[in-house]
Order: sequence, then C-alpha cells, then structure tokens
Amino acid sequence: MSNKTFFSLHGGVNVIGGTKLHLTSGTDELIFDFGATYEPGKGRFDQVLTVRPGRETEDSRAAGVIPNLSYLYSPTPSKHVAVFVSHFHLDHVGMLSYLDPSVPVYLSQPSFNLLRQLEVVGEGIGTHRDLRVFPYGEWIDFGRLKVLPLPVEHDIPGATGFYVKTPEGTLAYTGDFRGHGLHPEVTTAFFARLGELGTNILVSEGTRACEAPRPDAYSESEIGTVIESAVRPGKSAFFMIYNRNIDRIATFARAARSLGRELVLTPATHHLFRTLSPEEYRLARPAVFVTQEFRVKGLPPWIAGLDVPRLTVPDIAREPARFLTELPYANLNELVDLRPDGGSCFIHSDGPPLGEFDPAFRNLKQWLRDFDLALVFARSSGHASPEYLKECVNLANPDILYPVHTANMAAMPTPAHGILAVSQLYQKYYIPGRRG
Ligand SMILES: [Zn+2]
Ligand SMILES: [Zn+2]
Repeated sequence: MSNKTFFSLHGGVNVIGGTKLHLTSGTDELIFDFGATYEPGKGRFDQVLTVRPGRETEDSRAAGVIPNLSYLYSPTPSKHVAVFVSHFHLDHVGMLSYLDPSVPVYLSQPSFNLLRQLEVVGEGIGTHRDLRVFPYGEWIDFGRLKVLPLPVEHDIPGATGFYVKTPEGTLAYTGDFRGHGLHPEVTTAFFARLGELGTNILVSEGTRACEAPRPDAYSESEIGTVIESAVRPGKSAFFMIYNRNIDRIATFARAARSLGRELVLTPATHHLFRTLSPEEYRLARPAVFVTQEFRVKGLPPWIAGLDVPRLTVPDIAREPARFLTELPYANLNELVDLRPDGGSCFIHSDGPPLGEFDPAFRNLKQWLRDFDLALVFARSSGHASPEYLKECVNLANPDILYPVHTANMAAMPTPAHGILAVSQLYQKYYIPGRRG
C-alpha cells in the first residue's frame, strides 16, 4: 500500500452543499462532512423513484449519494477511519445515518448539544453511537494524521474548520463560514491561524463567490431592525426561519418584545430555543403554536408537560396584532383559518424554501398572494461575501485552493502566492501538491 497522502471529493463539487472530503494517509482515513446534496429535479432519486427498502445503502452508493466505500457501512477493523463534522446543517450531516455505528463521528461541543435536542424533536441522525466531542484548539492524533479543530462563524451553533497535518504536507477544510455574523472575529482568526501554521492545500466553500453586491445582504445584527420595520400596527405578522439558527430565534424574541407582541413558536422551535438559549427564552416566555396537526393528535410528550402558554389558530386569529407567529412552509395551510387582514406581513428569514431554485419557493409566493400577505425578506446569509472570501483566502495564503460547496468555481479568488484549482469529483489529489 502506498504511504502517500491524498484526498478525494465525494460530493460538494459544482454544487452548494453535500461536501464529503476523503483524506487518506496509509491506512488512516478521515472523512470531513457527510452531507446530503439538495438539488430539486436533478438527483437520481425523487419522490417517485426512491431507494429500495432493505437496500438503501447499496442504492445510495450506486447513485453516488454517499461515498462508494464499503467499509463505512459495515464494521471492518482493518480500516482506521473516522468522520469529522463541521456543523449540523443537513448538507453536511444529512447522510450520517448510513454510517456503520462503529465509525466514530467527531463533532464540537455546541454541535453535540444541538444534536441532543434535535434528537428530542425527531431530527437526529439515526442510531449512531460513537460520538466524540472535540475541544477547539487541541490537536487530535489519528495515526499519521493530526487534526486541529478551530471555530468559525456560521448561522448555526458549533461551526468548525479543520487544519490537518499529514506526513507530506498540510490541508485545511473550512466547512461553511461567514464574516457578518455576531462574531466575525472568530472566522478571521481561523484563517489567520491557517496562514501562521502554513497551509499547502485549502479546501474552501465558495457559496457566494460570484454574487453581485445586493442591498438586502444584511449582517446578522441588522435583522432585528428589518423585522421591526416589516410589522404593521394592528396587522398579523408571520415569519419563517431555519430553527437550527438559535441566534435568529433570539432575534425574533427581542423584536417581538420591542414591538410589544408575544412570540409564538412551533413546538420544535420552542424546544430548541428553550433548551439551547435558556436566558433569552426566559426573557421571551414564548407561546407554543398548537397547529391543526397537534390539535388532532395532541402535543408531543417533550412539550406536553411544560407549563407554557399554548395558542391555537382561533386564539391567534382573534387577536392578530398581539402576536409574532412562526409559520413554516409546511404550515402555510393554517392561513385558511388564520384569515389574516390584507396588508399583514410574512417575514422570510432564511427558512426553507430558500430561493427560486426550489419549486416550493414559487408555491410559497402563491400562497402569500392568495392571502394578500406582504413578503418581506429579513435574511442574513450563512456564507462569506465575495470580498470577505478573498480576505480569508489571502490570510490563509495556501499553495492550492480547491473550491467546494459552490456552483461557480471560477469565481473563487486566486491565492496571492498559489493557484486556484478546478475541483473534480473522485479525483485523487496528492499532498502537498504544487510545492511538493
Ligand atoms: Zn453547507
Ligand atoms: Zn451550513
């Protein structure tokens, strides 16, 4: 067996999300992220053609949905392999349930805390047992490889970037990151550290690499003001978020207080907010939205016993101006009974569907038109602006930059003293590459 160190990409090439970076050094193998690719209308499987019961893994391997590496899916002591997770967005962890339970999964403490609560609300990662929490800034020895996990700022708790020392050179993987969250200095420090340590290969996300400047590219700290100015006195106000963004829930809680309204959250969002942001939760005391589904079947046990206000659709419809109510896409049908006044607002704050690429987005807009709701965007991307991306690449100063998690590799910044590669699926890239 060759002792050379190389990496391959099993996803995340020419597409936003689904990154799976496979690093091999002798018999030591690491996989960074194990996400699902979300491309409506483009995947091998759809709502009609799906994986076969009992053959889910084989079908998914054959279709390239998960890496075609047999030892990941059955216990094989001959392989020294582990998965490192950058953060708990589905495009980075969505396929973890396929892994054999014997494959260790490394994750940050905030990611672990989030996962525990996601499990409560039924959004866990299956039966996986071997979870290993890493502290930031401490090296992890993995045979010939040494991994240094460092925090980055993204729109979810616990986002991590990785720096790896191999016998032949160094590689860094960014996960997802941005520079306009509540703590941009965290991301800047990550890239500065990569520069200090010396980085041969940088594998970086580039979601917004080709984005033109836009007036509604808000920073996270501006979102509260946008929410407050969207809500009209005396009218209903609804919003959608991605509830793994705990800071964003807190932003809505503060906006509700400042508007003199009560915050109303769906059961899952209520649970995540209560358990992961207890101080903000205590200040907000949000009500639980008992949607029609839960009126029929009862609230889930993890919320049924709580002493918290509960509101049904008739409660909210009776006093529309009293509330700021979470209304996810799946619950738009509640509008049939909510019957909001014309001119009420619906605030899109980064919940799915995210944009025109998703057919559900057109449907969302149609529902809002049907109920005369004004669509207001209060969005703050989880990804770096083109300018900040360039700043970060300059700080890391790699020999070779491999773009992932972007639909436009050519728009990525070229390293000042290195080259911009064109990443290809399954290609073996040897380390250190150019200077080797
Ligand atoms: Zn992502
Ligand atoms: Zn992400």
